[in-house]
Amino acid sequence: MRIVYCPGEWRRMPVESVLVCSGCGTPFRKAERQVGDSVWFEADCMAKHISDGSE
Ligand SMILES: [Zn+2]
Repeated sequence: MRIVYCPGEWRRMPVESVLVCSGCGTPFRKAERQVGDSVWFEADCMAKHISDGSE
C-alpha cells in the first residue's frame, strides 16, 4: 500500500513566515478550511508527488 503524501499544515493566524513543501519547495497557500484562528495551508504539488512516486 502506498501512502500518498499530502503537503499541508495547520497554522495559527496571523502567519508570519511563508511555508513551503519540504519535498519540492512549492509555497503553501491558504486554503478555505479554518477552525477558530487556525487555517489550513496546503501546496498545489500533490499531483507532482504522486506522479514522481510511480516506479
Ligand atoms: Zn511538494
